[in-house]
Amino acid sequence: MELLDRDTAKKLFERFRTTRDGIRNIPEMASVCMICGSIHIVPKPGDDRRLLCRDCGFAFYRYQCTACGKTVDGRDPLNPGCRKCGSRVCTCGACGCQPVGNG
Ligand SMILES: [Zn+2]
Ligand SMILES: [Zn+2]
Ligand SMILES: [Zn+2]
Repeated sequence: MELLDRDTAKKLFERFRTTRDGIRNIPEMASVCMICGSIHIVPKPGDDRRLLCRDCGFAFYRYQCTACGKTVDGRDPLNPGCRKCGSRVCTCGACGCQPVGNG
């Protein structure tokens, strides 16, 4: 995985600051904090669906949908929170609410 350089991060930050639709489609956005613009993003300890900004402490959802494999990003308006499970809803309509299978 390539490290994101600051110029690219800044451009992405500016691009999505006003319009957040589409964040989920940009792989580099996994490494940009939309609160402070930092690129110091690490997996949140104990939570494999969230990432954590080391500079401002903001945590956001960013993971692959288990149903369709697309990226779900909690900062994207098209990935709203589910009222039932508290997880994020993918553009395919799935979240974590499916019944538990035999497994
Ligand atoms: Zn931050
Ligand atoms: Zn999906
Ligand atoms: Zn749900």
